[in-house]
Amino acid sequence: MNYFWVFQNKTFREESQGGFLWAPQKDKLGHNKSHWSLMKEVKKGDAIVHSVNGKIAAISFAKEDCYVAQRPATQGFGDWEKQGWRVDCEYYFPAQTIRTKDYIEQIMKLQPDKNSPINRAGNGNTGYLFRASKDLFEFLIVKTATCQKIEEQGLELLSLLSAGYEYEKCNGKASLDRVIAEDEYMEEVESAINRQKTSSIEDCPKEKTQKNFSGSRRVYKRDPQVSANAIRLAGFKCEVDESHSFFLSHRTGKNYVEAHHLLPISCEDEFDVSLDVEANVVSLCPVCHRLVHHGKHEQVRQTIETLYQKRRQRLIKAGIKVKDLEDILKAYGK
Ligand SMILES: [Zn+2]
Ligand SMILES: [Zn+2]
Repeated sequence: MNYFWVFQNKTFREESQGGFLWAPQKDKLGHNKSHWSLMKEVKKGDAIVHSVNGKIAAISFAKEDCYVAQRPATQGFGDWEKQGWRVDCEYYFPAQTIRTKDYIEQIMKLQPDKNSPINRAGNGNTGYLFRASKDLFEFLIVKTATCQKIEEQGLELLSLLSAGYEYEKCNGKASLDRVIAEDEYMEEVESAINRQKTSSIEDCPKEKTQKNFSGSRRVYKRDPQVSANAIRLAGFKCEVDESHSFFLSHRTGKNYVEAHHLLPISCEDEFDVSLDVEANVVSLCPVCHRLVHHGKHEQVRQTIETLYQKRRQRLIKAGIKVKDLEDILKAYGK
C-alpha cells in the first residue's frame, strides 16, 4: 500500500464531489511534470491526504488503479491539456479541521525523503501530487479524527487506529488523543458489558495477539470484552475501595467504573503471554483510575499494592509472572 499527498485548492470541490483526482499528462509546452506523472503510481487501496489552502480537507482511498482520462468537463479544469490521469477515490472528511502549519514539525519528520509535499522551509511544494508515508497518514487521520468515520465504513486497515488501541508514545498533544481514545474505549467496554453477561472466568494464560507496526509508534490492541468481563466480575465496584461510587452510567445503569490494566499493556513485550486478560484488568472508579495514572509516587504505590495483593494468584494463573510489587511499579515509572 502506498501513501500520497495531493494539493487541490481550486479543484477540490469538484474533485471531492465527483470522488476523483485528475491531473493532466503534459503542460501546454508538452512537458511532463513529476507531480503529475506520479498519478500513474496510485493503485487501488492506496491512501491519499488532501491538502486545501493549508488545511487537511479530506482523506481518501483509491477505488481503482490510476487510468488515462480526459479532462473533466467542469470549469475548474478549464485551462489544462485534455489528456490526463485520473484516480477514482472514496473521500472521507475530517471531524476536526487542522492546519498543516500547526503540525509542520511532525509532518516534516514523518514525510518521506523523496517527492515529499513540504519543502525544507516548511512550506507546501508547488505541484499536485506528492508522496506521503504510513506514519504521516496515521498521524493525520488521528489528528483530524477521520479514523472514526473511516472505520464506520468497515475499512479493515483502520481497525488499527480504533479506540481499542493504546499508543505507546504519547507526548505533547498526542496525550489528548490518548484521553479521547480512553473515553471511546470505555464506551466500547460498556457496550460490551451490555452485550454479553459473563458470570465467571477461568484464568489461564492467553497467547499474545499484538501486532507491531513500523515507524515510531507501536499500537496495542485491547479487547473491550475482556475489560467488560472484568468489570462485571468486580460487580461494578471500585477494587481499591468498594464504597467509591460517584454516578451511574447511562449506558449500563450501574455504578460507573473504568477498566485499568494493572500491568500496562505497553509492557507486553516483556511477557510471554497476553496482558489483555481479565486477571490483569481491574475495575476502578474514575478517581482511582486517574490516581494510578497521574498521582504522586506514594499514593500510586499504595494503590497499586492494594490491587496487586488482590490479584497475585490470578496473575499467576494467567501465566503473568511478576516477581514482586517493585516489578509492577517499574512499569508505572515509579
Ligand atoms: Zn488505566
Ligand atoms: Zn476508587
